[in-house]
Amino acid sequence: MTEDRDLIRALVGPDGPELTCEQCFEQLDRYVELELAGADADRAVPGMGAHLEGCPACREEHESLLALADS
Ligand SMILES: [Zn+2]
Repeated sequence: MTEDRDLIRALVGPDGPELTCEQCFEQLDRYVELELAGADADRAVPGMGAHLEGCPACREEHESLLALADS
């Protein structure tokens, strides 16, 4: 099954783990809180930044959470 492993590595890329959408949604509240607190959210939730960049649905959710928190 080396092909699968290569495929996973290609999808994940060299920057470390990427979250699934489910994991992303589970962590998103905490991630936004950390961002707003000025903490290193990407370090606290590894893979989140990469997922948000690559996933329009989660990025939209992230932006609406930020907008909510900002109002
Ligand atoms: Zn996603």
